[in-house]
Amino acid sequence: MAVSPGLTLACALAQYGVKAVLLDEDNTVGVKGASSRGICYAQKTLEIFKRLGIYERIAKKGVQWSVGRTFAGADEVYSFDLRQQQTHSLSQQPPFINIQQFYIEGFLVEQIYRFGQTDPCIDLRWNNRVTAFAQNAQFATLSITTPAGDYTLQAEHVIDCTGSRSPFRAWCGASVTAKKGDDRWCIADVRFRDHPPVERHTWVEAPFNENRAVWQHLMADDVWRIDYQMAPDCDPEQVSREDVVRARLNAQFSAQSGRELRPEEYEIVWVGPYAYRSECLDNLRHGRVFFAGDSAHVVSPFGARGGNSGAQDADNLAWKLAAVVQGYASPQLLDSYHLERHEAAQHNVLVTDRTARFCVRLMAPSVCFARQHSAWRAGICLPGSWSIPVACLRPTPTPTQAPAGPPAGWPRKTSH
Ligand SMILES: Cc1cc2nc3c(=O)[nH]c(=O)nc-3n(C[C@H](O)[C@H](O)[C@H](O)COP(=O)(O)OP(=O)(O)OC[C@H]3O[C@@H](n4cnc5c(N)ncnc54)[C@H](O)[C@@H]3O)c2cc1C
Repeated sequence: MAVSPGLTLACALAQYGVKAVLLDEDNTVGVKGASSRGICYAQKTLEIFKRLGIYERIAKKGVQWSVGRTFAGADEVYSFDLRQQQTHSLSQQPPFINIQQFYIEGFLVEQIYRFGQTDPCIDLRWNNRVTAFAQNAQFATLSITTPAGDYTLQAEHVIDCTGSRSPFRAWCGASVTAKKGDDRWCIADVRFRDHPPVERHTWVEAPFNENRAVWQHLMADDVWRIDYQMAPDCDPEQVSREDVVRARLNAQFSAQSGRELRPEEYEIVWVGPYAYRSECLDNLRHGRVFFAGDSAHVVSPFGARGGNSGAQDADNLAWKLAAVVQGYASPQLLDSYHLERHEAAQHNVLVTDRTARFCVRLMAPSVCFARQHSAWRAGICLPGSWSIPVACLRPTPTPTQAPAGPPAGWPRKTSH
């Protein structure tokens, strides 16, 4: 079920020629009521999208960046160029592409329909809400509500991608290790007439934001994501009011240019206040159910690991399901999904929590940010190391690999 990891998985299964039903209670791409949550897609994810045949569209629509600069007040305290890092030269994909999540999801849907023209393996059912679930030794049963009426569906395997409010967690009795952040942020997605440089800029102390942190990125359609750290006790409605957002933008850009930012020079595309929490299921498999994406793990947005790791979950699971369903591997192969992706999820929680704690600590009254703060050297706040994908960090168990020599014609469909 459902969007980024669900669509990635469905697209991969279509490529392998595996029959699956994709259910979504919604009938749109993107997140209801939110312009775009995810914006930043990492190299490993881009490699997956290349195999699925949507990379070229992402590269054409999105914005490539590799230079990041970090400021404390007016001082640049750190900068990096990801292209100079040795590991990135091994891939044909760039370190990152920034693009709104709804474009990726739209491309995946179109690719699933395209694959379906020759072999309709994936049955995509919009406005189909799963309302109950049970499983036994033979199969899983899903109860589904649609505008046309209710029905039940039996399945051999269920992949839950229903996001951070997954009902499957309760239905399966899945235990979760969770932590709530007390940090508050407010996003402003903005289009400027004269736009800032195509670099990722971070302020750990932004004088124009009461010395709180600010992140600034460009994404597709010339839209800038500017993410402002707010006071922990702020009122989300108040901080996202249009006049308050305009005052914040003016404070930032007039400080940089030395003159007032006039309303006709920019357009506010979307505003979204948010808080975050981190969660990880203790087991990513419960019988016939596999948890992927935010239903399996939720992390703070710092480091762009949420959607990226969801796509990597899907990539890890797809070929295993295909190999088992098509009889090329024993069902035990599916157990390696938890071993590998739980390890990755825990690592992502660790790194994003550390970054979030670092941002919060900077704001503590007792902490005076020192330019030579050891955190810089430790790489805590450096997104260059943020989104390095983790398949499995320990030497054992050995990460599984898709068979080097799969049966002829596997996957069955080519990218385009
Ligand atoms: C501010 C912010 C910035 C972010 N930036 C990035 C970034 O730059 N890069 C990145 O990789 N990630 C980023 N993320 C994280 C990313 O957006 C999420 O990890 C991703 O959306 C999770 O996808 P998902 O499909 O697991 O869950 P969701 O996107 O929540 O999708 C859940 C889907 O399940 C469906 N559904 C729910 N319940 C049911 C049901 N009962 N029956 C049927 N369907 C159901 C919903 O309709 C929906 O389509 C960011 C998140 C935030 C909040």
